[in-house]
Amino acid sequence: MSYVLGLRCRECGRNYPPEVLFVCEYCFGSLEVIYDYARIRKVLTKEKITKRPKNLWRYRELLPLNKEPITGFFSGFTPLIRARNLSAYLGAKEVYLKDDSVSHPTLSFKDRVVAVAISKAKEFGFNTVACASTGNLANAVSAQAAFCGLRSFIFIPADLELAKIVSTLIYGAQVVAVEGSYDEVNRLCAEIASRYHWAFVNINIRPYYAEGSKTFGFEIAEQLNWRLPQHIVVPVAGGSLISKIWKAFQELYKLGFVEKPRTKVYAAQAQGCSPVVTTIKENSEIIKPVRPKTIAKSLAIGNPADGYYAVSVVKESKGWGEEASDEEIVEAMRVLAETEGIFTETAGGVTLAVTKKLLAQKIIPKEESIVICITGNGLKTQDAVIPQLKKLWHIKPTLESFMETLKEHT
Ligand SMILES: *Cc1c(COP(=O)(O)O)cnc(C)c1O
Ligand SMILES: [Zn+2]
Repeated sequence: MSYVLGLRCRECGRNYPPEVLFVCEYCFGSLEVIYDYARIRKVLTKEKITKRPKNLWRYRELLPLNKEPITGFFSGFTPLIRARNLSAYLGAKEVYLKDDSVSHPTLSFKDRVVAVAISKAKEFGFNTVACASTGNLANAVSAQAAFCGLRSFIFIPADLELAKIVSTLIYGAQVVAVEGSYDEVNRLCAEIASRYHWAFVNINIRPYYAEGSKTFGFEIAEQLNWRLPQHIVVPVAGGSLISKIWKAFQELYKLGFVEKPRTKVYAAQAQGCSPVVTTIKENSEIIKPVRPKTIAKSLAIGNPADGYYAVSVVKESKGWGEEASDEEIVEAMRVLAETEGIFTETAGGVTLAVTKKLLAQKIIPKEESIVICITGNGLKTQDAVIPQLKKLWHIKPTLESFMETLKEHT
């Protein structure tokens, strides 16, 4: 049972049937899934959601499937943590972490979008799935394709972190390393998608893929007992997550589950790749593509597909944008680990570093509630922090050796 009415162009508003389409043939605007909220309102209640299994399909009326999902049964419903130690460090009153660094099965928020995209690809009858990826999407597509018995082709920039390559190859995917930036990989994939009958999760079935991001926002509301935070700081790569968190809040409002959203939404990017934040700060609407140079490789998209919508959401919500240098990113990764015991990847370092700056600039008042989005796991980007870690003590397997070393250091 589906509540999808169809696809709609985000620019000119033309309607399309819910098929394998992603751009408007009249104006080249991107297409978005639209739902029959009046009907959803009649069948869906907060109580009903709360009783369902703790995975992303508990919001399935608001997701674009016609048939039963085939993957994602343990994805989503990640912890929302009241971060008291971090609050003290930041001098802020009420800080929460939405922690997708422990997402099943591949330790990033991309498990959500891929669960939706692969279920939809199967509905459409594809037997090969593919993606252009900065790393985490590669992991999620290859793992879930393996689980669903689909073939997968994964296109990545050749300079990706080793851990992200290994944790794609292990599932049997064919990985194609392209000598170029992510934006060049993406352009190539758009050409490949027009020639082969493959589902590129973030290209030709992108409208469905992107809907999976909403579950991150739904969960935050539910886990705050159907209240919305006053501020949310979101890492931005292609701009899907940030725009869909906002859509999720609006949908919950339409269904009468939360008050009118007043949450201010902040875009967090790395200094070496901040096309969205730059546009926000310049109060412009036109995204100028950049050539990325940052350790936050999962966010290194210089020409973001949904960049324009990311900027619009920030403006509409009266939020702002800020960027973090590579040093600030690594420092924030350490702070999160040392205060809350959470090892996030570079992208999480970006969001925390940006939150700290926004508090220091008093753009976020310290007594208001803040959700910081932690979207990936630190085991995948170890290279970034290794030079900053404490030195090991090397000893002989004797008590004397240990005691001597301890004395030397105290
Ligand atoms: C993909 C990704 C994001 C957000 O990506 P969008 O393209 O903006 O939706 C954030 N954090 C991590 C770790 C990611 O892999
Ligand atoms: Zn259009």
